[in-house]
Amino acid sequence: MGYQIRTYGDPVLKSTAAAVEEVNGKVVRLVDNMFETLYTSGNGIALAAPQIGVQKQIFVWDLGEDPLVVLNPEIVESAGEWLYDEGCLSIPGLYVEMMRPKTVLMRGVGLDGEMIEIEADELEARLFQHEIDHLNGVLMFDRMTPDQRAEALAEYRAISAAPTAPAEPERRRLRLR
Ligand code: ZN
Repeated sequence: MGYQIRTYGDPVLKSTAAAVEEVNGKVVRLVDNMFETLYTSGNGIALAAPQIGVQKQIFVWDLGEDPLVVLNPEIVESAGEWLYDEGCLSIPGLYVEMMRPKTVLMRGVGLDGEMIEIEADELEARLFQHEIDHLNGVLMFDRMTPDQRAEALAEYRAISAAPTAPAEPERRRLRLR
């Protein structure tokens, strides 16, 4: 059974995740549960362990090709700029246009304990940066100016307070000034 996804306001999302010291059966089961939670979400492409309340440096992703996982990831190089409507399973319904580097080189450890390096572009590079932010207790709101944050928070509160919340939140696009 999957876990419930923690949403904005839950303190676990503001905490820094600890490195995984050993890949054991517990880590493998956690990763299985993370995939199940991700697929149950319906519209997510990636999920970090703190989003299910586990303070470990792990995230999983699936862009429709393969279920993939990385432990203890870090961005070691980044380049360019790319504008994208970023969303977050922990801030359901809100999509905010955000600028971040277009390409990144991520280094981490695979479930077999071996070091991996992945060069990514655009959507995959974006999700790497977004998920690593989660491992550092950083949310989209933290990457905005105070004015943008106020606008985005107001929009999110309006979405959350909608009287008939649909099972899958309607996609609301917010272009920040
Ligand atoms: Zn997120």
